Amino acid sequence: MSFNTLEGGLVCPHCKAEIISGVGFRLGTIASLRYKIGDSLSWEGENCRPATRPQTKEIKTLGYYNCDNIKCSSWQDCYPDVQVAVVTVANDKIASVEPYQGPEPAKEFQILEPAELAAL
Ligand SMILES: [Zn+2]
Repeated sequence: MSFNTLEGGLVCPHCKAEIISGVGFRLGTIASLRYKIGDSLSWEGENCRPATRPQTKEIKTLGYYNCDNIKCSSWQDCYPDVQVAVVTVANDKIASVEPYQGPEPAKEFQILEPAELAAL
């Protein structure tokens, strides 16, 4: 499954190391794009999620990352745990990313807000 990557802006909740490898998420044009905080989200081309840009000011979606610090407690048996983050897009710019602490999501890469996109 293809996704985009958000680089920077997040530290591991376990060891506080900066997440270097980025957070994978699926919003806007899905084309292995690389973003940083403050970048505008692309909605070009056919392969967009959702298909057209929502008119809401704020979108929150789940993304996935792992800690790059092999001494972190999130590493077990030489593999890092996949951790979940919330990526917030405000006025079509990537505003923030933080560890997700809500209930078990219904699906991978879930869009949390606006609620009408949660079924995508
Ligand atoms: Zn860590």
